[in-house]
Amino acid sequence: MSRNYYIAGNWKMHKTRSEAAELAKALAAQLKDGKHRYLAAPSFTLLETVAPILKGTNIRLGAQNCAAEEQGAHTGEVSVLQLKDLGVQTVILGHSERRHVYREDDALINKKVKLALSHGFEVILCIGELLEEREAGKAEQVCEVQTVKGLDGVSAADLDRVVLAYEPVWAIGTGKTATPEDADAIHGFVRRVIARLYGPAAAEKIIIQYGGSVKPENAAALMAKENIDGALVGGAALKAETFVPIAKFG
Ligand code: PEP
Repeated sequence: MSRNYYIAGNWKMHKTRSEAAELAKALAAQLKDGKHRYLAAPSFTLLETVAPILKGTNIRLGAQNCAAEEQGAHTGEVSVLQLKDLGVQTVILGHSERRHVYREDDALINKKVKLALSHGFEVILCIGELLEEREAGKAEQVCEVQTVKGLDGVSAADLDRVVLAYEPVWAIGTGKTATPEDADAIHGFVRRVIARLYGPAAAEKIIIQYGGSVKPENAAALMAKENIDGALVGGAALKAETFVPIAKFG
């Protein structure tokens, strides 16, 4: 397989500046000989603290969201221009917490995806089904709709800067992980959706991360699967002791 593994940490709404600096320094030191691609995505308020620590390292700086508009009267939102100014390279969009807690729909997520890409960011587009959707046999359908709508209007050239993250909602922060086989089946299905939209070469190339209770104990088995190209890690990304072994699996 020619795709490089890509391990990303989503720090969610955790950490103060001093805690974030401590974690970023530990990751920079402990991953400097790591052979995969890495990303850390702290809260907006921590980006200015973490940016200089990660600068020049092999860990990209990510944001967990961005506004759908470039700038203007959008109280409480954060713009791509502000993120760029801080040195952010990647934006995570469509995370299940954004979709299901903050009610972001596919149209809004797609607007953000296109805006972030137009400003040169890499985008990690999260997709994934709810438990009831999986139980109703709709996991593939949900992932297909989220992929197709999320990427609507994204050019083949811009797809080079898109990473997909399959995160079954029932596995996020619950301690329940999809089996490597179940996750790989959805990843393979999503890759076929990309092949239909962008052709087989793009489908072969696109990175599809798995997210949902990835831990040091289960990372290698997930990554061993043909269509799983990395991980988007939540809880286990909050400590170097748990993130580094995931990031250095294999
Ligand atoms: C996430 O928030 O993207 C995630 C996968 O969280 P966790 O690893 O805690 O399940």
